Amino acid sequence: MAQINDDAPPAAIVTADQAQNVPIVIAHRGASGYLPEHTTESAVLAHAMLADYIEQDVVLSKDGIPVVLHDLILDDVTNAAFVFPDRNRADGHWYSFDFTLDELKTLRVTERRSPSRPWKDKGTRFPLESGGFRISTLAEHLQLIQGLNKSRPHQAGVYVEFKGAAEHRAEGLDLSQAILDVLTQYGYDSSDDRIYLQSFDEGEVRRLRKELKTSLLIIQLLVKPADPAKLKSIAEVADGIGVPLDHVVTGKQEDGTPQLTELVRNAHANALQVHVWTFRTDALPDFAGSAAEYLEWLTVAAGVDGIFADQPDIVVQWRAARREQVNGGSQFRLLNERSQEKPRSEK
Ligand code: CA
Repeated sequence: MAQINDDAPPAAIVTADQAQNVPIVIAHRGASGYLPEHTTESAVLAHAMLADYIEQDVVLSKDGIPVVLHDLILDDVTNAAFVFPDRNRADGHWYSFDFTLDELKTLRVTERRSPSRPWKDKGTRFPLESGGFRISTLAEHLQLIQGLNKSRPHQAGVYVEFKGAAEHRAEGLDLSQAILDVLTQYGYDSSDDRIYLQSFDEGEVRRLRKELKTSLLIIQLLVKPADPAKLKSIAEVADGIGVPLDHVVTGKQEDGTPQLTELVRNAHANALQVHVWTFRTDALPDFAGSAAEYLEWLTVAAGVDGIFADQPDIVVQWRAARREQVNGGSQFRLLNERSQEKPRSEK
């Protein structure tokens, strides 16, 4: 399978607009606030909503094909237990790498069933067990997005997460190599291409850069807040960090201004971009008065470079409104306390 537009390389990288201090918008698992995550339908909607990047979480099938799924286990978003009742492991779960691509293709995909999400009770998401969605490969998602980049007046990038490299290795599967092979096939091979790679696995990020020698931009995902020493070490191999929203904005002060950490400043001092997850209009933190206020705190006050959003259209619309304000001569720029910029490093 070749890249579908042989004459058209992948769209060039878009970075946060540093002069106007507006972030890139990353559709979290597609437009997952509106459609089941990681379906092609969700990716199409994200493209229509003008997301700058569309996210793909990737795992492998038993036959080593990269497929777009958030979890190694299939339980929460498919009917694997119904279709393959005897194929769970001793721990009671159905694993993606126990099924060939042909088998995975027989499954239905649903909105997440797990009840433990704050937005689940609000009735804001796509109904469970309906819609006839299917699992798709990474290659199919890339074809889809590159096709839409050609047929629509919008260029979306891709933002690929490597899920569970160690678990795959234990099964004799090389997740990173398999993903890089597909990406190369579809023309993603330079730091100028509109793509980010991302992983929580620090060893694997290092391997991607040093051993597999990818020149694509890499975002190191972090669960624990990083101190300057940690950021310095990350900057040896990565171009940015992906962190939870509360690593950046922690609350509201008595005077009504946001309480910020030093993280963005420290990351920028190490030439690292900062992308935050996950903005959800139906799960804003209690201290945020509105979606617009929260977005302003994250971007204007704190200076993040990218925002993962379940509802990418809301961030895109907010950003357009801010741009208009800037171009209309507002004080927007003066609100920006960020002093020094270097969105990308040369590695
Ligand atoms: Ca992800």
